[in-house]
Amino acid sequence: MMKKKEIQPTPVELIPVKCPGCKKSIRSGGQDIFFYCDYCDTGYELSGNKLRPVVLEFKRYRGKLKGEARNIPFWAFRAKLTIHLREASHTTTSLFSELGKLLSGKIPGMRSKSELMFYVPAHQSPPDKIASLGRRFTINQPVFEDSEFCEFEELAYNSEDAAKLADYIFLSSEIEKPDVISRLKYTLELKMPRLVIVSFV
Ligand SMILES: [Zn+2]
Repeated sequence: MMKKKEIQPTPVELIPVKCPGCKKSIRSGGQDIFFYCDYCDTGYELSGNKLRPVVLEFKRYRGKLKGEARNIPFWAFRAKLTIHLREASHTTTSLFSELGKLLSGKIPGMRSKSELMFYVPAHQSPPDKIASLGRRFTINQPVFEDSEFCEFEELAYNSEDAAKLADYIFLSSEIEKPDVISRLKYTLELKMPRLVIVSFV
């Protein structure tokens, strides 16, 4: 005898969007990932069903981005890369990608590793564009000017998803190298996420 399968609807959990700090209503920065309280000037990201305060910075960058000037959110992490094992068709470490060399502290004269920032674009964009922009910023370690509060592109990722994207950005730059990697074991530590809104001028 066939058993009838009952389909249970997944319960929808409604999250009252109130500022955890001052309990006033807060507005969503799109996609229900980022929220902002106008009363106490605090940004929050949604993680699971909890609102977590976010360090929010507005910066100006004197560099062009294809298309018109936009205000783009980036998750910025303090980053440290440790390579445990790398086996490839060529064996020298000089074949690391520029990003890999930078993150693992193999570029002499660079700022100390603790200050190195990994940038992950947080707006909606195709994966290859996210990767190339993230790589460009992380390799360049841009010096920003402070800027004022402004509206910005909707967030497509919270900081946890951005950390996974950072892995993808790192791996995609290693994979683009001419030597063929057969084994790669690494730890990419990403700490203290900040949301940096970059205005391209
Ligand atoms: Zn508030």
